[in-house]
Amino acid sequence: MIKTDYAKYSKLSPFELKDQLIAIAQSKTDRMMLNAGRGNPNFLATLPRRAFFQLGLFAATEAEFSFSYMPEGLGGFPRQNGLQQRFDHFVLSNTDRSGVTFLGKALSYVRDQLGLDADAFLLEMVEGVLGCNYPVPDRMLHVSESIIKEYIFREMGVHGLEKEAVDLFAVEGGTAAMAYIFNSLKQNKIIDYGDKIALGVPIFTPYLEIPELNDYQLKQVFIHADPKHGWQYPEAELRKLEDPTIKAFFLVNPSNPPSVKMSDENLVILADIIKKRPDLIILTDDVYGTFAENFKSLFALCPNNTILVYSFSKYFGATGWRLGVIALSKDNIIDEKIADLPAEDQLALEKRYSSLTTDPNCIRFIDRMVADSRNVALNHTAGLSTPQQVQMVLFALFNMMDSQQYYKKAVQSVVRERDLALYRQLGTTAPQDCNSINYYTLVDLENTSRELYGHDFADWVMKTKVPAELLFRVADETGIVLLPGSGFAVEHPSARASLANLNAYQYAAIGRSLRKFADDAYQEYLATSIATVD
Ligand SMILES: *Cc1c(COP(=O)(O)O)cnc(C)c1O
Repeated sequence: MIKTDYAKYSKLSPFELKDQLIAIAQSKTDRMMLNAGRGNPNFLATLPRRAFFQLGLFAATEAEFSFSYMPEGLGGFPRQNGLQQRFDHFVLSNTDRSGVTFLGKALSYVRDQLGLDADAFLLEMVEGVLGCNYPVPDRMLHVSESIIKEYIFREMGVHGLEKEAVDLFAVEGGTAAMAYIFNSLKQNKIIDYGDKIALGVPIFTPYLEIPELNDYQLKQVFIHADPKHGWQYPEAELRKLEDPTIKAFFLVNPSNPPSVKMSDENLVILADIIKKRPDLIILTDDVYGTFAENFKSLFALCPNNTILVYSFSKYFGATGWRLGVIALSKDNIIDEKIADLPAEDQLALEKRYSSLTTDPNCIRFIDRMVADSRNVALNHTAGLSTPQQVQMVLFALFNMMDSQQYYKKAVQSVVRERDLALYRQLGTTAPQDCNSINYYTLVDLENTSRELYGHDFADWVMKTKVPAELLFRVADETGIVLLPGSGFAVEHPSARASLANLNAYQYAAIGRSLRKFADDAYQEYLATSIATVD
């Protein structure tokens, strides 16, 4: 075997390292490269997609009632008159198609359970799926916003807030949400040069990197989750947020990569901190919230301080759809901060938004995000495409109508089985606690070494092995790419595997490869320790 100099890899950035790992994993022609570094799930919700396509066929027929004297292929706007009767007929005459049956039930659910106007809903869906109008309102379609709010309230554990007290902005996934939020915080001087920002780490890499913000030379304060305590934040770490110079706290909850939701104890401490720091802005990225049981978002806990980001990408297996929302309370501290800006900043912002209204000072932060997302001037054509909003609504209804939560239980058991398959082969216990959602797993080099072959061996591994070696060995032997924990600001040498995007036997192969690495290292350790004992 050729001895590779792994030390040189420790100098690579996480992205360069990933590219090198992919190259090695692909280097053997007789096998497939498998990327367990990606968060993209390999499962997806099918019924709401069936519903989407059936709705599309119904809507196309509706459109063809107009201009029917013209050559084929030309239609007009759907008409509300008699729409529901025709829809009912469509549902009743296609009961053999599950997507159609779902649509019929969805209409009943929206009318009878959510108490919304069925005619308005149907017209919004039919027009929406055809995509024959600009999204109006640009922030989000009316009935769609009501339905998604209901979904967000239920899944994010929001109680005791009025629906009217919250606004949603429908966006192109969590990625767009982050870009829009950061940009508007910056444009509106909420975050300024040299400001101090706290990050809950480990965290999804882009939060460590957002160049827009790096231009601002922000000072980052890390709030470290503790691996010894199930990756919860120790109280002393959270109390750092009491420092009044910290402007905002960004976190991912449930976290990525440790994949745990914040414990109730953590939530209580945070609520107390917010009492002392009512000016602290919280940005919570809760894209994994729907994988958890009884999830409670910080948005539910301190709605006036918190911007919530939710994405449909992971839970519904819909990364290609680009679906997400930003939620913000009408009563929020960001709008207060904008109102309190120095006169000179106020004037500049008044100018920035003057094309939108005669009274730009009154534009709320959420609407500023909508405008900023299209460089203000193109505000009238802003917004998420209407077919996307329709699919988002169908996903949310699918979840809400599933009163036994069969889908949630199914995805939970899929990732859990993969987790077990990996650790069974590795021969260590799978990290488990009630807050874990198992979307990712972090294999810690030191702990694993200790659990397999004891303290002395673990110490030797930490002294002699470069963490990158483990990743390269796995890539070389199995063709499977794992990511280094360091890319997510994990302090301890570790590897991140997504449990969402490969099948159970492939996770077993990862476990076997990791075990082989440990066993080989142990032989090496025995040889060197025999050589040195004398
Ligand atoms: C995957 C992921 C996103 C991006 O989601 P999209 O909706 O696909 O853009 C955002 N935040 C976190 C923490 C993620 O893991």
